[in-house]
Formats: sequence, structure tokens, C-alpha cells
Amino acid sequence: MRLTVVTTFATLPLVCYALDRTTEAGEASITSPQAECAPYDYPPVTAQRAAFPVQWKPATILPDDSAAQSRWKSIVANVPDTPPKPVPGSSGSGSFKYPSSDPDCWWTYGQCVTPKLAGLPPDIADVPEPATMGYGFDDGPNCSHNAFYDFLDSKNQKATMFYIGSNVMDWPLEAQRGITDGHEICVHTWSHNYMTSLSSESAFAELYYTGVTPTCWRPPYGDIDDRIRAIANGLGLRSILWKYDSNDWRFGSGASKAQIDANYQDFINKANNGSFTSVGAIILTHELNNFTMSEAVQFYGQLQTAFKHIVPVGVAYNQTQPYVETNYTLPTFEEYISGTTAIAPGENGKLAQPADNATTSSPASSASPTPTGTNAAIPLLSWPLDRLFLVVSCFDILLLELYYRLGLDFFIRHGHI
Ligand SMILES: [Zn+2]
Repeated sequence: MRLTVVTTFATLPLVCYALDRTTEAGEASITSPQAECAPYDYPPVTAQRAAFPVQWKPATILPDDSAAQSRWKSIVANVPDTPPKPVPGSSGSGSFKYPSSDPDCWWTYGQCVTPKLAGLPPDIADVPEPATMGYGFDDGPNCSHNAFYDFLDSKNQKATMFYIGSNVMDWPLEAQRGITDGHEICVHTWSHNYMTSLSSESAFAELYYTGVTPTCWRPPYGDIDDRIRAIANGLGLRSILWKYDSNDWRFGSGASKAQIDANYQDFINKANNGSFTSVGAIILTHELNNFTMSEAVQFYGQLQTAFKHIVPVGVAYNQTQPYVETNYTLPTFEEYISGTTAIAPGENGKLAQPADNATTSSPASSASPTPTGTNAAIPLLSWPLDRLFLVVSCFDILLLELYYRLGLDFFIRHGHI
């Protein structure tokens, strides 16, 4: 034990010194989940924190944000005056009476994806290409996702990543990795609340204050109705739902691994039985924790066999411009399945970093009329890659590594914690 401790103490400062937590590439090269999940400070984000709502709380338009106010004013007239609905399972939900005619096309009530309000496009819940899977993961960026993203990279596989704004604030370099790796980034709201339970202005803020400027989003819990669709549509965001659910997020709170495995297997069996030969499919899966990511890795091979193609949702729809910024392009479906999974590849088949003068202007000031998305309040696509070594974070990582390698026992016995 003594020798182990001496050796570990001797090598850790070198490990710590080698960690670069100031660039996307540096952060992406960390292999220890404990080190990945030690908080770090990223100055470009820290500098903008005051321009964003409180993390993990329902967003509101900030009092001095005149750009957000005028954007909201420009779309509020098209938003129906539907009262907010109670959160499922909350005290008010028992007495809530919603008509069985489903006047609001409320997904949570009856999985409605064809709006009843005129002028709104239908939600995306499957993909048009036969025998094709629209591949996507919710709730990222997860701080320990490097092993999973490395796996996807090793398969030259891109996916649609639905990022939560509050997570992007905590893990900005992990969010940058999603873009650099060539994944399609969509919005998954600021705080991951039930959208139909929020006021219209708050629902707007949930979609407005988000990292990059995508053109797609997925409602948390699938909770969307025509009021929320009208707000998303006003921000140029297409709604992406699903028709199949792995229920991987339930693991640890009522569902066993065997049940999640069975859900994946049912979906794979459907593909093998020819259920998707005319229209492809989307299944709900998550980048939520180590379990959900491990399941994705475990079933990837079987999915690859069961489906002819596995592509990001946007690729299946030939949505080649995924962001309001025009310096990133997704391949067409034909290009993707022919092997070009990322456009303008940089080193190792990854997307090149954008130029320093990359466009990050908001849609309001953009010359391009479509698509319009949320404001690029955190310019994820063009953050300067400062090199600032963080001694405090490094010290935290050192301690975490020690706990991890030696076990908490040692530290408890020796009075360190
Ligand atoms: Zn979610």
C-alpha cells in the first residue's frame, strides 16, 4: 500500500499538469470520468453568466434584455391564449379536465404530432428514409461523455444531440465537442421543465436563452401543445419528437436494466421484422448518465445490423444548414450514407474549428431571412480558445483522482475527509 501511495502521489502531478481544461480538444482528451466531471471555469462563459437566466430554474426574459423583449413582442401575437397546464403528477393535475377532443394537440395527452392551429408545421416523429434510424440523445452535454463520444467517433457515427442550456453553461467545452465531432445540436430547453406548464413568456425564454443557434428542438418529456409549438415556430425551431421510447432514463427509478434492454430489443425486433421498410424510425434515448450511454454502446451493433442506415435526424431530412450561423453544414442523406458524414472535415474527420471571425450575429441582425433560430447569446461556434491553466480545478482533480484510485476508505482512515 505504501508503495502504491508513493507511486500515485509521484505520478499524479504529471497527470494533473497534462490536463488541459481550456480547449475543446484538451477537454475531449480526458479519459477519467472523475476528472471530466470536476467543475472548471471557462472565462468566455463566466463573463456572460449575468446575461442568462438562473440555471435549472424556469427561464424568464431578463429585465434589461431589450433584444429578447422585442423578439418576444414579434411573435406573441401568433401564440394562442391557452392557459398553462398542470405538471403531470402535481397537485393540480388531478382536478384538471382536458377535453378528449385534444383541442391543443397536446403530445402528453395523446401523442399528437399534427398541430390543429393553422400555420404550424407537423412535428417530426419519424424519418422519411426507409429502413433508417434517426439517431439522437437527450439531456447532454453530460460531463463524462468522452468515452461515449469516442465510441461514436470510432464508428464515424454522427447523431442529433439535444442539449440543455443549463448543462451547456456548466460544461461548455463538452458542448463544443458535440459540434466539433460533427453531431447535429438541437435545443432541449434552458431548465428541462414541462413546457406546457410554463407561461408563454417563460416558454419563450426557455428556448431563447440557449447555447448555439440551432433550428430544431425537442420538448422535455415530449410535453408540447399548439401554444408551445407557436412559440418554437416563432423562433424558427422545428419540433422533434419520437414514436419509440427506450425508457433508459427510468433506470434507477423504477426500471431495471433487463427492462431497458427489452425495450431496445423490441425496437430492434421491429426493424428486423420489416416495420420500418417504408418509413424510418426515431427512438428516445439519453446522454443522461453512464448507464444510458453504456446502453447505447451495447446496442449499437445490433441497431446497425437491423437498420440500413443510422443518421442524425436532420440528415434524414436533408437539413444541411442546422444552425443560423452559416459556417457549418450537414451532409445530405445521400452524402452521409456514401461515407461523407461531416462537411469541411478537419483533422481526423472532425469538423474544422470555425474562423475567428465566424458569424455569431443574432437572427434579428442576420442578413439571411431563413432559418431563424434563437439568439446566439453564447457564441459556442466561435469562442476564442484561451489557454488559461486553472490551478484550483487541477487541485480538485488531483483529489478526485486520489479518491478514485485509492478508495474513499484510505482517506477516511487518514482523516482527509
Ligand atoms: Zn430530456
